[in-house]
Amino acid sequence: MAKKNSTNWALAPAPESTDHVRIKPEYGLFIGGKWVKPKSGKYYDTINPANEQKLARIAEGGEADVDAAVKAARKAYGTVWSKMPPAERGKYVYRIARLLQERAREFAVVESLNGGKPIRESRDFDVPTAAAHFFYYAGWADKLSYAFPNRRVAPLGVAGQIVPWNFPLLMAAWKIAPALACGNTVVLKPAETTPLSALFLAELIQEAELPDGVVNIVTGAGATGAAIVNHPDVNKIAFTGSTAVGKIIQRATAGTGKKLTLELGGKAPNIIFADATIDQAVEGIVNGIYFNQGHVCCAGSRLYVEESVHDEVVRKLKHRMKSLVVGDPLDKNTDIGAINSKEQLGTINKYIKIGVNEGSDMYQSSCDLPSKGFWCRPTLFTNVAQSSRIAQEEIFGPVLAIQTFRTMDEALQKANNTPYGLSAGVWTDKGSKIFNLTTKLRAGVVWANTFNKFDPTSPFGGYKESGYGREGGVHGLGAYLRLN
Ligand code: NAD
Repeated sequence: MAKKNSTNWALAPAPESTDHVRIKPEYGLFIGGKWVKPKSGKYYDTINPANEQKLARIAEGGEADVDAAVKAARKAYGTVWSKMPPAERGKYVYRIARLLQERAREFAVVESLNGGKPIRESRDFDVPTAAAHFFYYAGWADKLSYAFPNRRVAPLGVAGQIVPWNFPLLMAAWKIAPALACGNTVVLKPAETTPLSALFLAELIQEAELPDGVVNIVTGAGATGAAIVNHPDVNKIAFTGSTAVGKIIQRATAGTGKKLTLELGGKAPNIIFADATIDQAVEGIVNGIYFNQGHVCCAGSRLYVEESVHDEVVRKLKHRMKSLVVGDPLDKNTDIGAINSKEQLGTINKYIKIGVNEGSDMYQSSCDLPSKGFWCRPTLFTNVAQSSRIAQEEIFGPVLAIQTFRTMDEALQKANNTPYGLSAGVWTDKGSKIFNLTTKLRAGVVWANTFNKFDPTSPFGGYKESGYGREGGVHGLGAYLRLN
């Protein structure tokens, strides 16, 4: 059926085919190079959030399963992976990258089916960027001493890696690629709602003939993650997820000698000056908060607009929001896919109510929504106070809070005034304003006249409650090495 955005244009369906994707009815755990049944005996269903239909039965790893995975990783580390000449290690990582490119369409469909994100996003961003990370870090495997001149480099051992549901494959690639290139072995846990792309990656790793136990994938929820964090034979924990869980992990690893990187939440500000190219800025804001359902840690969820152009920016934003298509993630016309889970939709709706009750003015596009699945219309709030919860707390949905400013100092103070510091955006025609602000914004990444651009060579990470440590680039290698 032709679907309508709120401008009433009818767009013919353009669904991506799923014929080439074989999802098995049931997945065990990938431990020691083999698929094994969970010792816990437990399974749960993973669903498609766009229609609530079951996709597969997934093993729920318990403490004994995590222990088996860590033992397999330790054995592979001691007997093969840490002893292998680095150039040979690099060849395996290159092989993963090439296979991922070959199977890109399949991975993109799986990611959209299980996560709800538009196929355009998974096809054009998630999968190619994941492959690019494997290519990039493969190249470093035999050049680590050049990355850190005059230092002796050594791997850490077994890395426990825990990732969230918003970029399931890409986050796995961010973590596995540098760990392997540096000579570590891995136990990775995907998020409970989006395990499929990591399980497909496990199959790909088998196909790449990595030595058994170098990469182990254990599925399950928070308790499975906690078992990895608390396992005494894990040398490093790399966590991407919420600030609340990050704090639990920080407490659990304190004093254990485990190396830790935390990539946590965000509440990114975009700042639009009156001299900016407004149409370009509006498109950047839409890209930063609405595409991908706002399920991005660095989503531009706060907008500060210079007072003189506020009305123009809001008018253009509303106009653009009307043309956004919310619907089937597998349709190539879709801009905003499904919210990842019923729980997350509940959180977003709770914050929309809070915004209204706090007295801000809400605008939502009036596009059609599918009858089944979890959906949220693109939403913006004007007349927002700096102390408002929708301006301070991470919502993780397509909800934008707009405020104004008169001077650069005011914009800076407001932008820096949250507990987070992951990313920020500046829109202006003046290079001097960009340089001035980028040095003063407390954010790990500042984009200027663009937003949400990623590259494996660039480090990424946060200030304040957005975490610590950096992933990506040479900095990302340091997180997986002992430097003497
Ligand atoms: P979450 O913290 O609930 O879960 C993340 C992962 O941790 C999941 O795999 C989960 O099963 C696991 N987990 C839960 N409790 C645990 C525990 N006690 N011990 C160990 N593991 C545990 O986060 P989420 O809702 O899946 O993801 C959204 C969050 O992730 C947002 O806050 C977002 O900003 C953040 N995020 C940050 C980045 C970044 O690079 N900074 C990137 C993506 C997402």
